[in-house]
Amino acid sequence: MIVACLDMEGVLTPEIWINVAEKTGIDALRRTTRDEPDYDVLMRGRLKILDEHGLGIREIAEVIDTLDPLEGAVDFLDWLRSEHQLIILSDTFYPFGQPLVRKMGDPTVFCHDLVIDASGRITDYRLRMPDQKRASVNALKSIGFSTIAAGDSYNDTSMLEAADAGILFCPPQNVIDEFPQYPVTQSYDELRQAFESAAARIEKT
Ligand SMILES: [Mg+2]
Repeated sequence: MIVACLDMEGVLTPEIWINVAEKTGIDALRRTTRDEPDYDVLMRGRLKILDEHGLGIREIAEVIDTLDPLEGAVDFLDWLRSEHQLIILSDTFYPFGQPLVRKMGDPTVFCHDLVIDASGRITDYRLRMPDQKRASVNALKSIGFSTIAAGDSYNDTSMLEAADAGILFCPPQNVIDEFPQYPVTQSYDELRQAFESAAARIEKT
């Protein structure tokens, strides 16, 4: 039995922080894991900027409520879930991801949490553990599942490495250049084909 492990932002949904940056007009929030591979440095910077602009969870939730999954994402997920078990492994936070997860039919999501005070100010973030994507794939393998992982960015490459097969979806050029071992897909049709090839290879072994 194969478990498909999918990144969320950039694969199924828009980048949440980039959209928050656009709607709020704060350019400094545009940085993502594509620009800053050190996630803690990235997050500390984001929380500081939110604080400086007086933005709390309510303002950000309003922005996220206006977003939709990427075109074709829900159909792709429906196909994937008909073929394999599915877990979305994301480095977003449950309060941020929830509106989009609902719009995708509530698939299983493993992500992180935020610390929010009574006024709605986001005071801290809580990773369940460092490098949870890799650890989740390894845990699935340890209980007898095969895994195929797909993602678009630096923070996905450790789960791609841990999985039985890894696939890149619409990655930036620097990720393509640094990780030439993974097939690159640019559409949901190509991603579906890459899943089918990987599954056929895994099922043969
Ligand atoms: Mg991503």
